[in-house]
Amino acid sequence: MIINYGYRDAQGEYRITVDTDKCNGCGACAEICPENIFELEEDDYDEIKVVVITDKINKIGYLCPGAAICASRQGKNCHDVCPNEAMSHSW
Ligand code: SF4
Ligand code: SF4
Repeated sequence: MIINYGYRDAQGEYRITVDTDKCNGCGACAEICPENIFELEEDDYDEIKVVVITDKINKIGYLCPGAAICASRQGKNCHDVCPNEAMSHSW
């Protein structure tokens, strides 16, 4: 299942997309995120998947500088460490 977290506002579109069929719940994205945007949660099928923390969904455009800027700052971002290409950003 494709899940989109985020919103569109006057500044642009800020969505983090997770393909839960590809996510294996390894937690690598959560570990590397400097803004602690992610957490792991059990889904309805008792499988661990990553989610965007509920309180942060409406702020992700402020919290996260965007995938490219994040990678330039710290070498890798949440996409780079994902073994299954389960995650993408709209910015
Ligand atoms: S790009 Fe960086 S700051 Fe943004 S969600 Fe991924 S790891 Fe976190
Ligand atoms: S790094 Fe990829 S596979 Fe691992 S929890 Fe994050 S989205 Fe899922």
